[in-house]
Amino acid sequence: MAQQVFWERKSLAQMNSGEWESLCDGCALCCLQKVEDDETEQVHYTSVVCHLLDKSNCHCTEYKDRSRLVPNCVKLRPEDVVEFHWLPPTCSYRLIHEGKKLPEWHPLITGQADSVIKAHASVLSVYEVTDKDINDDQLLDYILL
Ligand code: SF4
Ligand code: SF4
Repeated sequence: MAQQVFWERKSLAQMNSGEWESLCDGCALCCLQKVEDDETEQVHYTSVVCHLLDKSNCHCTEYKDRSRLVPNCVKLRPEDVVEFHWLPPTCSYRLIHEGKKLPEWHPLITGQADSVIKAHASVLSVYEVTDKDINDDQLLDYILL
């Protein structure tokens, strides 16, 4: 009998570091600026993306130094799993945490690193401007539904 793949067999907390890293689909949707409603605490995504994203390949141009350069850059850790509800609905970590399946375009399923881009499921299909193109007070104009 075929063994279940690790992301269906293990919880996020049980994954080793290699498995944890490979779970990221590279969509970079978490690189979009977010706005939190003070009253409802609901997190809204905007179409404003971090200026350090390489728009040709959806990679961070300063990955090793990202936390220093962008203090609000998202760094996911297994111990923060209870907070994963604010991640994009298609984020692999959120899907696994909620007991859902990975989408068919996920690189772990297709075997192709750029399948998320080809499926138009990455930030490249969503963003309009970078955070260097607007003022902070314009952010609300870019809230996505
Ligand atoms: S939203 Fe989730 S799957 Fe997409 S890049 Fe961010 S951490 Fe990875
Ligand atoms: S620093 Fe890199 S990983 Fe962090 S939000 Fe910006 S582009 Fe994304």
